[in-house]
Amino acid sequence: VCWKSEERIEPGSAEKFIKGTLLKLQHLSVIEHAVATVRFVCDRGVSHEMVRHRIASFSQESTRYANYAKAKFDSQITVIEPPGLSGVQRATWIEAMEAAERAYLSLIASGAKPQIARAVLPTCLKTEIVVTANLREWMHIFELRCSPAAHPQIREVMLIARSHLTAVYPELFPSFVVEDVAK
Ligand SMILES: Cc1cc2nc3c(=O)[nH]c(=O)nc-3n(C[C@H](O)[C@H](O)[C@H](O)COP(=O)(O)OP(=O)(O)OC[C@H]3O[C@@H](n4cnc5c(N)ncnc54)[C@H](O)[C@@H]3O)c2cc1C
Repeated sequence: VCWKSEERIEPGSAEKFIKGTLLKLQHLSVIEHAVATVRFVCDRGVSHEMVRHRIASFSQESTRYANYAKAKFDSQITVIEPPGLSGVQRATWIEAMEAAERAYLSLIASGAKPQIARAVLPTCLKTEIVVTANLREWMHIFELRCSPAAHPQIREVMLIARSHLTAVYPELFPSFVVEDVAK
């Protein structure tokens, strides 16, 4: 459409067009027309970083409405352990998680609504978040969040997400294997 070159579209021409033309010339509006949706399970510290990306849509498990005192949550909160804790540090973390859970359940038992009791929930509370963005924005998100400068836990889930998009759109997302997460 842009260059009235439809006659040059033929089987196998997409890779050359994307890599050799669109990416090279930064003619990137073209790749904004396709979107990808990813469902992440992570902690709320990580999801807080995700929602800073403004050119994306989000739907997230709500701590206002989810009542972790209910049987469907086994009357407990679910947390994600941060990486790299030593033995003593881990014991401290577990103690803090147990205290947070006790406080949450106690507040609910005394009549507080989940949206109020959530004030004692930890940053490492497990959450689920569905993120939809166009492919140009995913390239940008991966550039920032797969970098060694990113927080290790957002990097971990973004490396996995990127590996899935690499499988579908190898021209846009550099070749990559999940094992790299450990590096
Ligand atoms: C390693 C790291 C450390 C960070 N530390 C902190 C921190 O300590 N505190 C903190 O508050 N945040 C922090 N951030 C978040 C960071 O400041 C950005 O808010 C976040 O990464 C979203 O990036 P973005 O604005 O490039 O992308 P998006 O919001 O995804 O936007 C994509 C692109 O669109 C363009 N764009 C979008 N909105 C605008 C706009 N209003 N004006 C002009 N251009 C726009 C820009 O080119 C932008 O790069 C950190 C991020 C990283 C990766």
